[in-house]
Parts: sequence; structure tokens; C-alpha cells
Amino acid sequence: MTGLTPAAERRTRILQEAVRQGLLDAGRSQLAAFVDLDGVAATVASLHRAFPSAPRVLHAFAAKANCLVPVLAELRRLGMGCEVATAGELARALAAGFAPDRIVFDSPAKTEAELRHALDLGVAVNADNYQELARIDRALGGRVPVSRIGVRVNSQLGGGSIAAMSTATSTSKFGVPLADPGSRQRLLRAYHDHPWLTWVHTHAGSQGCPLDLMAGGVGQAVAFAEEVNASLGRRQVVGIDIGGGLPVNFADDETTPTFDTYVRQLRAQAPALFSGGYEIVTEFGRSVLAKNGFTAAYVEYTKSMGGRPIAVTHAGVQVATRTVFNPDAWPLRIEAHDGSGRAKRGGPVRQDIAGPACFAGDLLARDRALPLLEPGDLITVPDTGAYYFSTPFHYNSLPEPAVYGVRTSGDGGGVRFELLRPAQDPWDVPGPDGHAVPGRRREYEPVHGVG
Ligand SMILES: *Cc1c(COP(=O)(O)O)cnc(C)c1O
Repeated sequence: MTGLTPAAERRTRILQEAVRQGLLDAGRSQLAAFVDLDGVAATVASLHRAFPSAPRVLHAFAAKANCLVPVLAELRRLGMGCEVATAGELARALAAGFAPDRIVFDSPAKTEAELRHALDLGVAVNADNYQELARIDRALGGRVPVSRIGVRVNSQLGGGSIAAMSTATSTSKFGVPLADPGSRQRLLRAYHDHPWLTWVHTHAGSQGCPLDLMAGGVGQAVAFAEEVNASLGRRQVVGIDIGGGLPVNFADDETTPTFDTYVRQLRAQAPALFSGGYEIVTEFGRSVLAKNGFTAAYVEYTKSMGGRPIAVTHAGVQVATRTVFNPDAWPLRIEAHDGSGRAKRGGPVRQDIAGPACFAGDLLARDRALPLLEPGDLITVPDTGAYYFSTPFHYNSLPEPAVYGVRTSGDGGGVRFELLRPAQDPWDVPGPDGHAVPGRRREYEPVHGVG
């Protein structure tokens, strides 16, 4: 009756309850973000259903997509592993309680110390290049590793629609090339020389890569594994890590493509992956979290400039960095609500939705048709559960907003919030010597006191 999709209805319900409980408040708390934990559970279940479980599949969530420790802990409870790309992400995965053998460490710049730490813990490691392989060999010193160790290969099949997200190009910085002259033979020799190399890893890229490119890259990785095993006359390579990269639909509330669609594509282009001869690791990030999170912000002021209505909101580059700096590649939807969180009515008016930062490009949307926004209204920004509010940009000393987990399942179906990350206090700043100064807020508040 409202004309809203079920997902939009749910956001509206969560938003109204957040206002009612004071999590959003035009005077005190103008920006907050929400992770739909029921939605996350449903998405993870769909991922588990899509892949056959034999002989063993580990779905390792790419921590960079949403690195909040309580989110990672929730994914662990839902049966996922964790893919980490830096020492910081490794620390977060361990803090979230992942067992080391359910963590996969990918990074093109692992230091000697980081490698030793990962190998000591038994964290799986995918080497990015030959120099790293030599370091691993030295660190092992002839020992049989506890860790699963693989090499990241680059099929060099090509890029997708966003150059910065494409990792399977002929000159990508990631992995060992498969198509360059002599490269395949050199890598084959490395597998011969290092019997502890038992995995092959590939990740063709993120958002913007077509499914046939991703599946084609996996096909190349599996073909290389088959070649290693055939030339050795034994099954040294026991597992394929197919990476992540399933794109997300940012245009509406439909989840497309689905994990099922991707698995069908993999069966067509990399059938040996499911032959039963290989364990499988996946590393999905955006497709697990993006559609299960949204950002909400109050409109502070509105104006008209050169005939264009502009709404100045509290959500901008600090929570939507990619969209602000590269709006054509990363368009986001905006939804208009009144101050209580109800969907706003009114004919569409083309307007700009601006953020709070002090540069002219800080716009979430340009020339977007929405009911005309007014001061005190709220906007929501759907599909921001991955790579947005969880990875804030600290420009202008804009504070990190609070992030709340939301559940409505069980307990009579009410909306329940749990704090996943507290809002950063903008008054919590270091003194001139760089050290934290406790009580600074109390010291300054009377001066700047707002009645
Ligand atoms: C970023 C990344 C992922 C996750 O990509 P998504 O597009 O979020 O699924 C997985 N593996 C590697 C190696 C990555 O760099």
C-alpha cells in the first residue's frame, strides 16, 4: 500500500524505531549506520546453500568489506571464515575469535615478521610473488607448515568496468602472471620445488567484473592446479581459493546476481572445481554485507543555487568516500524521510544531496529526483553495509558515526539494536604533545555550550 519494497519497508521501520529510541536525534546524533543482522544471516545461509559442501568449503569473509569486530564475530557464529589483507585485519579476525586455520592471509606486501607470525599461528597464506615465496621457504626452514600455503595467480584475462577494482588485467599489481611468456613454466617449477605449495589462489577483481570474467579466472586457476598435479603424478594441489568479487546491484532492492547464478557460471567454466578433488575457499565481501547495511543522516539546511535545490546533510565523504570521489562508478540510492523516519511523500524534485565536508565535491547524489527535502528531514542511503561507514575517511576531522546491529527475529518481532561501534567523540582529541588529554570535552563544553 505504501509502494515501498519489503526491504524499504524494513529500513523505514528500523529508522522510525531508531529515532524513537534516540539513536538518531536532530540535535545530538545526526548520523548513524545500521547493519541488518537478520539480513546478514539470510545472506550467509544463501551462500552456504549455493556451494556444494564436498569435500570441504570454507567461505572466508573479506574483512576489508566491513572490519568491525562484532560484525566479524557474527559472521564467525554464522559459520564463515575470514580473509585478511593486512596485519591490522589479521588482528581484528583474531579478536573476533576466528580459529587461525579459518583465516586466510592475502596481501601483496606481507613483511617478514607478518609471514612468520601467520605461519606460527597456522593461518593460511597466499603468496603474491616469487620473492614472498622465497621468504616463506626461509621462514619454514625445512619444517612442514601447519598453514595451507598457495600462490595467487593472475589469469590476465582482462578487466571489468571499474579499472581500480580489476585485478586480472595483463599488468595488474597482484599475483603471478599465467599468460606472460615463460611464466607458467616458472610457476610450475616452483610447485615442483616446494611440496608445501598445496593451494592455488585467484581473485579476478571486485565490483564491475562480469561473471564470465570471474569464472574464467577460476577456470584458469583450476587448469593450472590440474597441470601441476598431472606433471607431478600426484595430487599436490588439494585446494582452490576462488577469491570474492561477486558484484552488487546498487540500483534497487533486488539481490542480483545471486550466489546460485555464480555457482552455475563456475560449473560451466570451471567444472573441475566441483570434481570432488579440491577443497574450496571463497572470499566474498561486498556481496555478503552491502545490501544488509544502510546509513541515515539528518538534513541540516536546504538552499537553492543557480536554480538547483541543495540539501546539506550530515552524510558525505566521511562515510561514502568512493561515491564522492568517483560518483559515476559508485552511484548510491537516496531515500527521503521526514524527521520521525516515515517515508516522505511529495512529487519528485531534482536536487543535490550534499555532505558536511568543506569541499565542493562532497555530494552523495547530483540532480536526484526525490520529494523536496527540508531541514529536519532524514535521508537513508541503502546498500552501504560494505566498504562505506565501516571504512570512514577522516577528512575535516569528521567523527566516525555509531554503527548499530539490528534484529527483529525472535522476542515478539520488536526492533532490537546493539552497538557495533560507538560514535567517535569529536572532542576527544590529543593535546599538543600528541598524547590523549582526558576530560577535554568537559574543559571546553561550557565555552561552546549550546542551550
Ligand atoms: C577485496 C578482495 C576480496 C573481496 O572482494 P569483494 O568484491 O568484496 O567480494 C576477496 N579477495 C581478495 C584477495 C580481495 O582483495
